Amino acid sequence: MKKLTGQDRSITSRWRPATQAVRGGTARSNYGETSEALFLTSGYAYDCAGDAAARFAGDQQGMTYSRLQNPTVEMLEQRIALLEGAEACRTMASGMAAMTAALLCQLSQGDHIVAGRAAFGSCRWLTDTLLPRFGITATIIDARDNDAWRAAILPNTKLFFFETPANPTLDVVDLEAVCRIAKDAGILTVVDNAFATPLLQRPMDYGADVVAYSATKMMDGQGRVLAGAVCGTADFIENTLLSFTRNTGPTLSAFNAWVVLKGLETLDLRIRRQSENALKVAQFLEKRVPRLLYPGLASHPQHDLAMKQMSAGGTILSLYLDGGRAQAHALLDALELVDISNNIGDSRSLMTHPASTTHSGLSEAVRAEMGVEEGMLRLNIGLEDPEDVIEDFDRALKAVGL
Ligand SMILES: *Cc1c(COP(=O)(O)O)cnc(C)c1O
Repeated sequence: MKKLTGQDRSITSRWRPATQAVRGGTARSNYGETSEALFLTSGYAYDCAGDAAARFAGDQQGMTYSRLQNPTVEMLEQRIALLEGAEACRTMASGMAAMTAALLCQLSQGDHIVAGRAAFGSCRWLTDTLLPRFGITATIIDARDNDAWRAAILPNTKLFFFETPANPTLDVVDLEAVCRIAKDAGILTVVDNAFATPLLQRPMDYGADVVAYSATKMMDGQGRVLAGAVCGTADFIENTLLSFTRNTGPTLSAFNAWVVLKGLETLDLRIRRQSENALKVAQFLEKRVPRLLYPGLASHPQHDLAMKQMSAGGTILSLYLDGGRAQAHALLDALELVDISNNIGDSRSLMTHPASTTHSGLSEAVRAEMGVEEGMLRLNIGLEDPEDVIEDFDRALKAVGL
């Protein structure tokens, strides 16, 4: 059989990202299949009892149980690690399983963290509600303000946690500056990179220690499965994360890993085309709505920073209407092509009203502090012809008096 190079890091690390996304991590069975095999198995059999003992002792290579290892899942982990430029990656059952594991595996009672105020609703629930129950305190800051990071550091600060661009306000965090502040203080940074993916932004190139994903979003990219991933050094993954995840069990199913492997094959194509489409729709909408935020537009207050650390603006934009929830809901209801849906990263254009959906679990005060206003809408731009999306908005905006 022709030599398969997907597992040889000395070769795959030289490949460009689009090649890594198609071939990185691929391991073939003895059938020589071209597409990655789906191993739906919970257990593994051993040739003799001594082999089983040796594998459990770590003296023999091989798999023991699919909560711990699975060949399809390992292919995905190697591919994501490669794209991220990370030494290692472990996948999880969802993005929130990844965020929870990335935080809880390294925090203990008495620790303190600093986190960005604009964040995915469930990430705010982790920092505001779950961690304090275990004696871990959090200071929530405006993550755009580098001085606020420095000022929030306490003697027991263990880590910085933030998203960039953030959900749903599209706040951009200065990766290089914030990771430098953390490093100087001996603090670890955990970055949620779901919006940009490693194809548009690699936080580790700017000094981030741990990068975590909802792979449900752009990595699957076709609205099919939930998945998550945590990337870091081999030492962090093996000695800090693994004992937590192996024993608590937020394992990604082999089937979902296989779907995400297929998704990654087209990630480079999709995210670039969707970013181009998003820019066109943003340019149209900017002239029709009172306020619009898209990192790829010069009107975004942090456009220069976004373009320094991202190679395109991404698929998400946020718009703000003056007529509050009523007008926002009316616009959603008037759309024909764009679906009302709170998912993002999909190949379909989807729009949601965060205050009454994704961020409805947060108090009004927290929403106000984050910038999630009643008239705000979050829009994911898909792979449709952007002219059709623009026509849909043109008609729907007229219907709500805009
Ligand atoms: C969706 C999302 C999550 C959670 O991911 P799930 O796969 O839905 O669990 C976390 N962070 C960000 C920024 C997200 O967009």
